[in-house]
Amino acid sequence: MNNKKPLIIAGPCSAESEEQLFAVAKGILEGGRIDLFRAGVWKPRTRPNSFEGLGETALPWLKNLQLSFEIPVMVEVANPKHVELALKYGINHLWVGARTTVSPFAVQEIANSIQGTKTSVYVKNPIHPEIELWVGAIERFLKADVHSVSAIHRGFSSFRNSNYRNIPMWEIPIELQRRFPDMALICDPSHIAGKREVVKEVSQRALDLGMAGLMVEVHPTPDSAMSDPNQQITPETFNELIKDLEIKAKTISDVFVINKLEELRSKIDKLDEDLIQILNSRMNLVKEIGEYKKDNGITVFQLERWNEILKTRSEFGDLLGLETDFVKQLMERIHSESIKTQIAQFQKEASKE
Ligand code: PEP
Ligand code: MN
Repeated sequence: MNNKKPLIIAGPCSAESEEQLFAVAKGILEGGRIDLFRAGVWKPRTRPNSFEGLGETALPWLKNLQLSFEIPVMVEVANPKHVELALKYGINHLWVGARTTVSPFAVQEIANSIQGTKTSVYVKNPIHPEIELWVGAIERFLKADVHSVSAIHRGFSSFRNSNYRNIPMWEIPIELQRRFPDMALICDPSHIAGKREVVKEVSQRALDLGMAGLMVEVHPTPDSAMSDPNQQITPETFNELIKDLEIKAKTISDVFVINKLEELRSKIDKLDEDLIQILNSRMNLVKEIGEYKKDNGITVFQLERWNEILKTRSEFGDLLGLETDFVKQLMERIHSESIKTQIAQFQKEASKE
């Protein structure tokens, strides 16, 4: 998997001018390498009145770039009209964005419009962590008999607090690779990271997992970019990044071990998150009970209830094979936090009186 040179895709989030596009290509070729040049021409934006891309205006520039630098160009398409225009300008590497993969009708229409052409399609994962939608979109393109179908992992949006713009949830692309073992799975570290400082770490992780390539957003002056300014890097930084990445010659079995560890760690992350959410729901109930006790003149600590909690929870833990002491100590810690919370509620009320 990873003992081949990774496929390197780079270019700006959006095409802004011919000069900008040429500056990126020139900057990369001066000190590095690139297999495909990306640029967004139609930008599906979450909110209206954001920059939605230059549309057809940018296509002749990309056609020129493709000819001048002899690098194939890739654009995002979200409907058959986009496909028709891209093909008209000689662009036959097309990616389907995360906001389009979520819609089976849209995906099917695009697939129908490129049926039987020499197009290479790259399917980004849907915005939310729903692997079947990703699989379904890939299947629709595989059926369309195009030149090739690849997948791009760009992370998943989540309510979880995270250091990433889109959480990688590596177990999902790993599962996708398991289902399509021969398909190229490429990582988009820019949309996962959301911040340029994190792009390198995500890129290395993707290569360590045996992914087939990277799609990185590169802009000559990232801070003034018309879309995604925080995550774009300059051509110079990009060239350094590619030089610094370690491409280890791994055997499939090494990759499998890392994948397994990743998958298990991801499950632990999810369970810890559930645990904390459950603790929070429990604490909300404790507060409701606190109000009730206060209104009805009942004391915070109830010995009988506490003995019952300790006994039933330890027995349940025992039944599952957990150490009795472990469950007991955990319950004691939770109980003391509950008591502290209810006492604070009582004191708050007393200080008001
Ligand atoms: C992009 O690649 O610029 C893009 C819009 O990405 P995504 O569909 O992953 O949000
Ligand atoms: Mn972008």
